[in-house]
Amino acid sequence: MSQAEIEVRHDWSYEEVQALFALPFMDLVLQAQWQHRKVFPANTVELCTLLSIKTGACPEDCNYCAQSVRYDTGLVREKLMGLEDVLVAAKQAQAQGATRFCLSAAWRSPKARDFGQVTTMIQEIKKLGLETCVTLGMLTPEQVQALEQAGLDFYNHNLDTSPEYYPEITSTRTYEERLNTLALIEQSKINVCCGGIMGMGESLTDRINFLRQLANFDEHPRSVPINLLVKIKGTPLEKSENIDPFDFVRVIAVARLLMPKSFIRLSAGRQQISDEMHALCFLAGANSIFIGEKLLTTPLPALDRDQILLNRLNIKPLKKEQKTCENVL
Ligand code: SF4
Repeated sequence: MSQAEIEVRHDWSYEEVQALFALPFMDLVLQAQWQHRKVFPANTVELCTLLSIKTGACPEDCNYCAQSVRYDTGLVREKLMGLEDVLVAAKQAQAQGATRFCLSAAWRSPKARDFGQVTTMIQEIKKLGLETCVTLGMLTPEQVQALEQAGLDFYNHNLDTSPEYYPEITSTRTYEERLNTLALIEQSKINVCCGGIMGMGESLTDRINFLRQLANFDEHPRSVPINLLVKIKGTPLEKSENIDPFDFVRVIAVARLLMPKSFIRLSAGRQQISDEMHALCFLAGANSIFIGEKLLTTPLPALDRDQILLNRLNIKPLKKEQKTCENVL
C-alpha cells in the first residue's frame, strides 16, 4: 500500500477507540506493527536528545514533576544555560546519533529577557544540521512568530492526560490553556510535539479520551511522546500504583493505529522498562526514543544499554534524510 492510501482520520469516536483497547493483546500489537510498516521503514527508530536548559523553580504544580517549586524533591535549581554549553551538548548528542536536539525550560511561559537567548540557541543548533525542538510553556502569538522566524522545527507541549483527569494533575493552568498554545503552533510552520504520561492513576476512559484528543486534532501531532510516570520522591504522585506494562504497550499500539504517520516516542520512564518490554513497545509501533544520560531530571537507560538493545533487535537509527516529515508524510 502506498503512503497516499493510508487513511488518516480525525473523527475517532469513543466507542471505536474503546474497541481497539478491547482487542486481544496479540491482535492489537500485530495490527499496530502492520500499520507502522505501511508508513515507516521497518526496524528503524528515531533518536532524539533532550537538554534541560533551565531547571527547577517552576511556579506550576504538575503533580508528577520534580521541577515544581512547590515540592521538596532535592532537585538542584539551575539558571538558563549559556549558548556555548548548549552547543557543546548538541554536538555531543549529534556524535551519538541524535538527529533532533530538544531544549526544555521549566517555565509557566517564557519571559522576554530569556526568550531572545532561546531563539539564538535554536538558530545556532540548526547550523549544526540538527532538527530543533523546544518546550517553554505557554506562548503568545508573538512568541510563536519569533520561534517560527528562528527556524524552530518542533514545539513540545504535552496534554499529559484526558481533559477530565487534567485537574487532578495540575491546578495552576487549564486544559483549555494548553489547547490554546497548541492551536497557535498548529497555525504556524512549526510542527507539534504533544503527548502524555501513563501511570498517574488515570482510568482506561482517561487513556481513551487522551488519545482521542490527539487523534482528533485537525492535524495529528508529528511527534507523540508517551511517558511512563517516574515516581519522584516528594511529588504528590510518588506513591501511584504501577500501570500494568501490557496496558502501557496497549496505549502505544492504539496511538500507532490512530495516528499512523506520527512518530510515537518512548520517553520518560524507559529506565523502568525491561529490554523485553522495550521490544514489545517497538513491535507495537513506537519508533522514537530519547537517548542520553537524563530526560530532564530523571535518568535514562545508559547509552550503551540502548545501543546494545538496538543491536540485539537489529533496529537501526533513522537517518535525518530518511525521516524528514516531507518523506514520511
Ligand atoms: S511539568 Fe513543566 S510546567 Fe509542570 S511543574 Fe514541571 S516544569 Fe513546570
